[in-house]
Amino acid sequence: MKPQIYLDHAATTPMRREVHEAMEPYLLEHYGNPSSIYEIGRQARKALDASRDAVAEILGAEAREIVFTSGGSEADNLAIKGAALAQRGKGNHIITSAIEHHAVYDTCRYLEKYGYNVTFLPVSAEGMVDPGSVAAAIRPETILVSIMHANNEIGTIQPIAQIGNILREKSILFHTDAVQTVGHVPVDVGELGVDLLSLSGHKFYGPKGVGALYIKKGTKIEPLIHGGAQERQRRAGTENVAGIVGLATALRLAVDEMEETAARQRDLRDRLIEDVLTTVPHTRLNGHRTQRLPGNVSFCFEYIEGESLLLNLDMRGIAASSGSACTSGSLEPSHVLLALGLPHEIAHGSLRLTLGRDTTKEDIDTVIDVLPGIVQRLREMSPLYDASTIIR
Ligand SMILES: *Cc1c(COP(=O)(O)O)cnc(C)c1O
Repeated sequence: MKPQIYLDHAATTPMRREVHEAMEPYLLEHYGNPSSIYEIGRQARKALDASRDAVAEILGAEAREIVFTSGGSEADNLAIKGAALAQRGKGNHIITSAIEHHAVYDTCRYLEKYGYNVTFLPVSAEGMVDPGSVAAAIRPETILVSIMHANNEIGTIQPIAQIGNILREKSILFHTDAVQTVGHVPVDVGELGVDLLSLSGHKFYGPKGVGALYIKKGTKIEPLIHGGAQERQRRAGTENVAGIVGLATALRLAVDEMEETAARQRDLRDRLIEDVLTTVPHTRLNGHRTQRLPGNVSFCFEYIEGESLLLNLDMRGIAASSGSACTSGSLEPSHVLLALGLPHEIAHGSLRLTLGRDTTKEDIDTVIDVLPGIVQRLREMSPLYDASTIIR
């Protein structure tokens, strides 16, 4: 077995040992229900409260503005469906972008079936939403704007604070899917000017199956899950105490080392981008060159299939992805790459390498070492590639 080089941190991250240690007591000894009044219930309640305080403080929010969910997807669903249902009397128009994660994109598509109108804003070739286009799309019946903080496939970081400024004076709710940024770059709900913000534990070395939605106080949200008074009536069900403790612990650790980790990742990211662009012809970088997640690298290699590239990298012990984890396996290229204006055949040749806190210079050297040869070999087998006719 060759050593594994894991470069798919945008899909998920390995849980930190310290996080597991913090969670364990709440899986074993302190198993009480936080709603119970006896000692082990109170212990669970205390841990839940402390975790909520910690998450709120890091985001610049108040504890009562944090609702724990089963992950980023549920947080996105709660934000969008919850806001849409609660504002139904006000209007039925939603503005989002063409490059949202499926948890936002498909939720908006779903609402279209129930009488909501959705504007999917186009993005620039670098995957950037123009704040002016948000302003221009606003109608009297607009109730919600949902624009992701950073894209999971191409890494582009959106001008959320600028959009927040446009919406601040209007009574339109503003949601951002910050699943890719929380724990990686500074996120403060006040600075961003958002009413709703989604995050997910397993994207910052916490456990899977736990996330949170920030709901600014005074914001009306219809719950999606009924059956109990938990989370201030906004999300029924006995809380995932151990998972929530894990999420809060992971977030604290991520924020403490953020600056250092991000700086190291940016260096490795930029070296990888430059090396590949100079050594592999007919290659494009997807996403913005600088306004980009510290750990995100995304390419399109012309004349090859991303899937074959992934299999070849896997044989060399390198785990990466093509498009997003949700779309790989399907034959349709990702809606994100298509929204950048890439033709189908080029979007098919995409490769996403996402770096983590443990990624080393040696890992990146290995990729730089093996990638050009794999691409060359695949191109030679490709009917689309006729080396003699290509002018470099
Ligand atoms: C991973 C991800 C999600 C979904 O989060 P889960 O916790 O896996 O449900 C949503 N949005 C973005 C941008 C993501 O990267």
